[in-house]
Amino acid sequence: MGEYICPHCKNPIYDEEALLCLYCGESLRRKTGVMGKLKYPRPKIIAAVVVFLVLISFIILILR
Ligand SMILES: [Zn+2]
Repeated sequence: MGEYICPHCKNPIYDEEALLCLYCGESLRRKTGVMGKLKYPRPKIIAAVVVFLVLISFIILILR
């Protein structure tokens, strides 16, 4: 049920918690986290990370 196909090497990943591909080491969630895999159990974390990054970049802009 939790099978995920690595976009880089096309190998199936069965570990839902895996952040990196077990075969090629590429990140699994960064590129498909929002667009392709909305069924992720933790969309709130992704949204939180996005908000955090926006805040950080905003602060950096202000401090320049
Ligand atoms: Zn891979």
